[in-house]
Amino acid sequence: MRAKLLTLKPRVQTQGNRLPTLNPDSWRQGKQGSTQRGYTYRWQQASARFLRDHPLCQCPDCGEGRTRLRASTVVDHCIPHRGDMVKFWDKSNWQAMAKDCHDAKTALEDGGFGNPLGGYGKSSTGSKT
Ligand SMILES: [Zn+2]
Repeated sequence: MRAKLLTLKPRVQTQGNRLPTLNPDSWRQGKQGSTQRGYTYRWQQASARFLRDHPLCQCPDCGEGRTRLRASTVVDHCIPHRGDMVKFWDKSNWQAMAKDCHDAKTALEDGGFGNPLGGYGKSSTGSKT
């Protein structure tokens, strides 16, 4: 009896050591990288189609041609997605923008170019160029 119990013990231990490799979250670790931000071939196709549907800049300064006529060249996320794929692919969160309008918006959002945060849409800086 004693001999049998001793041979069983090591088997239980080796099985216990295997369990951590079955961690269901392990697949996620390989998915981070360039595609995590979502700017993939699929995004290029979807944004190109969106720009065909919305050829004019939809920013508050242009109002899709109501206040200023500018051709849209980029698709912007109204609410920054910050890696959130739900926000990223939500077309109600998309707006077509001219590149310089988009650059002005992102510069203000990031607080770069010496601009204070939160001033977007209050004054027009688009007449400079
Ligand atoms: Zn605009």
